[in-house]
Amino acid sequence: MPVSSPCGVCRIHAEQEAGGPAAELLIHRDPLWHLRHHPHPSPLTGWLLLDSARHLGGAMEFDPVESAAFGPMLQRSSRLVRELTGCDRVYAIAFGEGARHLHVHLIPRLGADGASESWAVADLYRVVAAGERPAAAPADVLALVRRAQQLTARW
Ligand SMILES: [Zn+2]
Repeated sequence: MPVSSPCGVCRIHAEQEAGGPAAELLIHRDPLWHLRHHPHPSPLTGWLLLDSARHLGGAMEFDPVESAAFGPMLQRSSRLVRELTGCDRVYAIAFGEGARHLHVHLIPRLGADGASESWAVADLYRVVAAGERPAAAPADVLALVRRAQQLTARW
């Protein structure tokens, strides 16, 4: 998919491959999946996105290989978020509205932070996107991505 693709997720993948700015947030890539940090402004440090490599709208469009691989990859990626952030739980949400290309939001649920609890996390997303609450510090995000790249080097 070229960098000029109409799909925002495909554009990010093309930019990662070309070594553009999105490449620094890439954690893991294989023939089926891309795991990356949420781009700036990110509501939380450790908010990852698990994308299908192929342009598809959701699990209902998986081929048999993607279908069999999704569960293990979702588990592995969720455990990574927990290890990186020390969170209690990891939310997995996929709307596919901003881009009709599967990108599962993997959100660290930190017990002490009420702003990330259940549906409140959607409000958090909106106030950060609107600039009403500070986003995760880019330096913190980059440090977490470096650790994540080390932890996933043998995936
Ligand atoms: Zn796409």
